[in-house]
Amino acid sequence: MSSRRKKIYEGKAKILYEGPEPGTLIQYFKDDATAFNAQKKAVLEGKGVLNNRISEYIMTRLNGIGVQNHFIRRLNLREQLIKEVEIIPLEVVCRNVAAGSLATRFGLPEGQALPRSIIEFYYKDDKLNDPMCTEEHITAFNWASTQEIDDMLALTLRVNDFLSGLFAGVGITLVDFKVEYGRVWDGDFSKLILADEISPDSCRLWDTVSNEKLDKDRFRRDLGNVIESYTEVARRLGIMKEMPTVIQGGVQ
Ligand code: UDP
Repeated sequence: MSSRRKKIYEGKAKILYEGPEPGTLIQYFKDDATAFNAQKKAVLEGKGVLNNRISEYIMTRLNGIGVQNHFIRRLNLREQLIKEVEIIPLEVVCRNVAAGSLATRFGLPEGQALPRSIIEFYYKDDKLNDPMCTEEHITAFNWASTQEIDDMLALTLRVNDFLSGLFAGVGITLVDFKVEYGRVWDGDFSKLILADEISPDSCRLWDTVSNEKLDKDRFRRDLGNVIESYTEVARRLGIMKEMPTVIQGGVQ
């Protein structure tokens, strides 16, 4: 179905195709899962369908509170129509609880609440293993302006506040997450909007009561039940009653 379209870019978990109108693209969610800079790989049947649906829901809710993003509409189980943006080559990570690389870097016990939310920037470059960078690097190397850094910080905190509440309401702790931003132009002026995806692939989501992980760490750490956990996130958000066809396969 998608093969007729011109492929613009293929990443580890998604493919971007030319969109039906100028300024649009089609974002296709694959079932491929990778971790540790693609050293670990697997195909998790149904993951793309779940992430497409979860990201649609989150982006729509964020749009509802005025956080503009690239999502236009979902086209089918695996594809969504998005606005074409000029991607800022940064991963913006926001953390509420110590986990992952932060816990390792500073020797913090995983699960320790942070005194306040912490935002970090990483330069998107697989060959370099996405090194962490500071505002000095970002402006010196022209990846984004100081105004754009301010906008990314403010927007990411709004996303964090909203999503923390959204997930708390369904018994899930938003431990940390990663977002990406893109520039859209209006004549000589540009603004930043949220891009990429927000899904259990890009967030750490723990059950508030049991601390059970409901995110990509299940794959990274071989905990099993990856699809079941992503389905549970979708179910709690109320966006999917059941996904039997996805779990059994056979979806396009
Ligand atoms: N993350 C991501 N893509 C990346 C790196 C991190 O989506 O390339 C997310 C990750 O899922 C987690 C948060 O960003 O929710 C913080 O990740 P961390 O720096 O702890 O890295 P990790 O230990 O996951 O490699």
